[in-house]
Amino acid sequence: MTEATNIEIEELLESAEEAVAEEEAAQAKPKRARKKVVKEDDLNAVLVDLPPTVPAGKLVGCHVSAAAGVERALVNAASIGAKAFAMDTRSKRRWECPPLMRITAAAFREACNAFGFSAAQILPHGSYLINLGSPDKGMLAKSYAAFLEELQRCETLGIRMYNIHPGHSNSCGETSTPEQCMDLIASCINRAHLETSGVTVVLENVAGQGSSVGHSFEQLRYMIDRVEDQARIGVCLDTCHMFAAGYDLTTPAAYASTMQKFSDIVGMQYLKGMHINDSKAALGSRRDRHENVGRGLIGIKMFECIMNDPRLDGIPLIMETPVQEPEPAINYKKSLLAGEVVYRHEGDAAKISTDKRDIALLYSLCK
Ligand SMILES: [Zn+2]
Ligand SMILES: [Zn+2]
Repeated sequence: MTEATNIEIEELLESAEEAVAEEEAAQAKPKRARKKVVKEDDLNAVLVDLPPTVPAGKLVGCHVSAAAGVERALVNAASIGAKAFAMDTRSKRRWECPPLMRITAAAFREACNAFGFSAAQILPHGSYLINLGSPDKGMLAKSYAAFLEELQRCETLGIRMYNIHPGHSNSCGETSTPEQCMDLIASCINRAHLETSGVTVVLENVAGQGSSVGHSFEQLRYMIDRVEDQARIGVCLDTCHMFAAGYDLTTPAAYASTMQKFSDIVGMQYLKGMHINDSKAALGSRRDRHENVGRGLIGIKMFECIMNDPRLDGIPLIMETPVQEPEPAINYKKSLLAGEVVYRHEGDAAKISTDKRDIALLYSLCK
């Protein structure tokens, strides 16, 4: 990292510290006793039909909304039978974000206890705006400040992992090589590690669109090799992105060989989570188009492999898939296995039932 960049980051950090001091001063004022955030109704609503034998090791879930507050994400996850979940710690497409109030953090921890979620089951998704590999100094400084802030939010909430897309080498009219881009990403992570504690940065593999880095296992390894604190770096494998980047997953043999490649090049010890999405785009297309479980070009076989792979026990397996109109659950799995085309309709209203159905479907694939 250049000296100029360091200075800019330094300046941004100073102003961030001032903002925190202001927030703390505001919070020091006496206020009314806070109301209980997890209501009895929420607990009663969390009655989900899951197959009778849900294997304890498989932490399946989805991306849930935290729009009504981070603690609401837990209610949303529990109500659809999720054993793991992802959420945004802030709006994914806006730079500004309101300071995380202590009341929110307390409510989040309280909801974790109420619904039985541990840190191992939570893998929040970072902002898409952050580009830790940007050759543009202004963008880099802005990205680093937001990245650090998100890690600090995770620390405050007691979250131990934070998932981010590594970055891209074309940014704000500037270009660099993939290696320069990845060197920058690693140096940002090293720096953030010194300023935080306890949160592991989890790099997500990407589909390889545009100038993005981290689409190959070799590139993930390259970045990991340059991170000093090896205990706080990991990988989240997105199956849709792997497939789009050219890693076949369509048959048990292809799945086994792709996972072996990952194990040889990166190492299973770095695998901290997975995004288990099917793909609308073809193998090697480098296009990032998620599809619901079993309905895309990867197909249901891969999900069966995932659900029966003991190496994936204990890590979040998160769906980030489109919403669909509910269908009779009884025929759904049979139709998919028979290769029948199932009517599909996207719409916000069906999000919960889609996720709930797909979680139950995934658990039913366990042998
Ligand atoms: Zn993903
Ligand atoms: Zn994606």
